[in-house]
Amino acid sequence: MRIGHGFDVHRLTEGRKLILGGVEIPFERGLDGHSDADVLVHALMDALLGAAAQRDIGVLFPDTDPRYKGISSMLLLEEVMRILREKGFRVGNVDVTVLAQRPKLKAFIPQMCKNLAQAMNVSADRVNVKATTEEGLGFTGSGEGIACHAVCLLEE
Ligand code: MG
Repeated sequence: MRIGHGFDVHRLTEGRKLILGGVEIPFERGLDGHSDADVLVHALMDALLGAAAQRDIGVLFPDTDPRYKGISSMLLLEEVMRILREKGFRVGNVDVTVLAQRPKLKAFIPQMCKNLAQAMNVSADRVNVKATTEEGLGFTGSGEGIACHAVCLLEE
């Protein structure tokens, strides 16, 4: 077994869609970034790449590359999975924690899990997504941004 951890932050801004785990969530602001800025999928991809010792998404998908402008992060996750399969890794499980003051994410989590399981081609019982606030503290508490932690186990 190999363990991986990923962490990411994106700023909340006007005029952008809020996409988390491949789900478009109705909210007055969205996450800023070069891709669709899906902070959840970014943290997850870094956990997967970390476990496989394959650097990180900043190296694989540079934000200076016009190919990745506005791209769905779910497509990038599929590419990460292709790399992992090529190296002989299988996903044991993934566990993701989103840190957001608003909006409430509970109702969207089942669909996020479904999307992630599908993109990784694993069964639903290997995927977990959680959301928490930081009790109004810090940049997630003030609504300046959303952060996400992810851990995973890969089987060789
Ligand atoms: Mg990111």
